[in-house]
Amino acid sequence: MTGPAPVTVLMNAGPWLSVPPPGYGGIENVVATLVPELRRLGVRVVLASVGSSTLDVDERLSVFADGQFSALQRPYNQVCGIAQAHLGGVVRALRERDDIDLVHDHVEAVGLATLTAMGPGAPPVLHTLHWDLGKHPDLYGQLDGGERVRVNGVSAAQLARAPAALRAHSVGHVHLATPLAVDADRRPAAEPGEHVLVLGRINPGKGQDVAARLARRAGFPLVLAGPVGPYHRPEELAAAGDQARQNPDVRFWYEQVAPHVDGVQVRWVGTVAGADRDDLVASARATLFPLRWEEPGGTAVVESLALGTPVVATARGCLPELITHGRTGLLTEDEDELADLLFAATLIDRDECRREAVLRFTPEAMARRYVELYERVRQQSGPV
Ligand code: UDP
Repeated sequence: MTGPAPVTVLMNAGPWLSVPPPGYGGIENVVATLVPELRRLGVRVVLASVGSSTLDVDERLSVFADGQFSALQRPYNQVCGIAQAHLGGVVRALRERDDIDLVHDHVEAVGLATLTAMGPGAPPVLHTLHWDLGKHPDLYGQLDGGERVRVNGVSAAQLARAPAALRAHSVGHVHLATPLAVDADRRPAAEPGEHVLVLGRINPGKGQDVAARLARRAGFPLVLAGPVGPYHRPEELAAAGDQARQNPDVRFWYEQVAPHVDGVQVRWVGTVAGADRDDLVASARATLFPLRWEEPGGTAVVESLALGTPVVATARGCLPELITHGRTGLLTEDEDELADLLFAATLIDRDECRREAVLRFTPEAMARRYVELYERVRQQSGPV
């Protein structure tokens, strides 16, 4: 007896970084976490990415040999040109073959606009929103009402802030996941120490300036980990000189954060990766998210739970969906209260944080939910 034919999904991860990403890489990390679980569930995956991607898939497509990340610094029309060249390859493939049942697209507005423009006859598209759309309401301006194209959010809060025209295309949200939730070997047995950790891009929305100010005022040791613009190491940033300040995150660093960084009580360690990152998270008293933007998905939040580290955060964006106040972390509306909550965070049961991650944020849970959404999108789009 033969079962139903497996669904073939073209997973469009874009041209910016290889999958898995070499270090920092939000979308590419999501794809690298999702794809192995989809394949375990019987989905065939054709990955549209760059030539240097090493993720195990059924087939690959690429236009560029390597990730084009550094080109993201260029003017917007040039950035769009690179996205369009990559998407040209995807569109050609979709026109030439008829075995793709669905496109799962992650390439911001340009990807969705291009795939929408393919018109009826092309496979249905599920586009995952990765950004805070309340802040960029015009990003998806030209999306038409086609039945073929659907979107999903990475949290209910993110969808609630999206423009109505985009929400009308929504099939729901899927929370982000982390392999750390199930991979006990990657979980360090670190004892919690004294330091508080802020893990993420150095950016006004992530609020490292608030963290540094509070640390100096309340007297707790603070570690900041993450890139400043394109600079991953303090030496790299120092060597870049004054022209680096054209980047707004570099300016934010020098003007708002660096004055509080003394290298002892408040330290910046650059981008951390792999076991070093996991150790730094697992040994923190708490991770701190003093957010000033509406965090859309919060991978670093679920990673913290998976590693048993309570989360202290401003109650913005997806944080109230991911964190249960008093059980897996502490949330507040008032940024001045964060310092008090950091002292109280030692009362949170670290096993409870891990249990929550195993229950809600595993790659398998994410993949099962996407398989459900693929089915919904295919049904809603009608026969191809
Ligand atoms: N990250 C990392 N090293 C760093 C800083 C961040 O590996 O020094 C990772 C972090 O662990 C998470 C991702 O980068 O997996 C950030 O994703 P998140 O959704 O938290 O934030 P985004 O940057 O996408 O807004």
